Amino acid sequence: MGRGVGVYCEACGWERQFIFGRGILSSCKDECLESLKSGEFGNLAQRMADELASDEIKLQREQTTFKCAHCGELVSGEFMTAQHAGAHEMPVVFISCEDVCPACGQPMAWVRGIPIEGDAVEYLRKMRKKGCPKCGGKLKESTIIWD
Ligand SMILES: [Zn+2]
Ligand SMILES: [Zn+2]
Repeated sequence: MGRGVGVYCEACGWERQFIFGRGILSSCKDECLESLKSGEFGNLAQRMADELASDEIKLQREQTTFKCAHCGELVSGEFMTAQHAGAHEMPVVFISCEDVCPACGQPMAWVRGIPIEGDAVEYLRKMRKKGCPKCGGKLKESTIIWD
């Protein structure tokens, strides 16, 4: 079950979405391992990828939203959760996100966890005031809900 809010431009199709909670969760194996090995989820994940190649590992990939600790910009990213099937160990969570904040240019010292929905609603409200960043058109609200 997940939820998201967003805006889209009717004129040019530009859109921006923020996802909360368990966003578009997918279990994967080979594909997720490839992403880890490629360094997409950081150096630690890359080093651990070989270890994770065992059959008892469960990988889950999840979309989420991160918040820049410097300026509050919201940035889409992903979690990758790795857990040994059947074991009571804590799952290891890797994060994939922009290295540099697209708004303020500071290294993304993202706030761990998921921003409260109010942050995103406020962010989108400001965005709608300014209009579409691509064509200047009017932005419309969108809500995403899935099971
Ligand atoms: Zn920033
Ligand atoms: Zn537009």
